[in-house]
Amino acid sequence: MAGCLFCGIIDGKIPANLVYQDERVMAFKDINPQAPVHFLIIPRKHVAGVLDIAPEDHGLIGAIFAVAARLAREHGIADGGFRVVVNSGSDAGQSVFHLHYHLIGGRRMSWPPG
Ligand code: 5GP
Ligand code: ZN
Repeated sequence: MAGCLFCGIIDGKIPANLVYQDERVMAFKDINPQAPVHFLIIPRKHVAGVLDIAPEDHGLIGAIFAVAARLAREHGIADGGFRVVVNSGSDAGQSVFHLHYHLIGGRRMSWPPG
């Protein structure tokens, strides 16, 4: 989608440190990491956010979680624990309106989140 930052990364117009890609999903390092491991996992298809996930996207969402588990194992945070987080809307602090799953780990985290 024109003007979308993450579509720009998908199209190769904006550089990113990729850690995974396949025909449906991409993952790359967050530019402002909040933990030793902080990746963003996104669908190649432009979906603005959680509220915009359509029935035909349900398999895609499952694929994203499979990538999260794979990356957690590959980057050594599976055993210690990690979070998969999606911010939706202004109260949650969503700042990029292309669906993305934060994979965060490598340090002790508190609950509830701030
Ligand atoms: P949100 O606040 O929407 O849940 O998360 C957006 C995330 O995108 C933030 O963690 C922010 O650091 C990250 N981000 C913003 N711009 C860029 C960028 O140009 N490249 C990368 N790799 N991450 C970005
Ligand atoms: Zn997009």
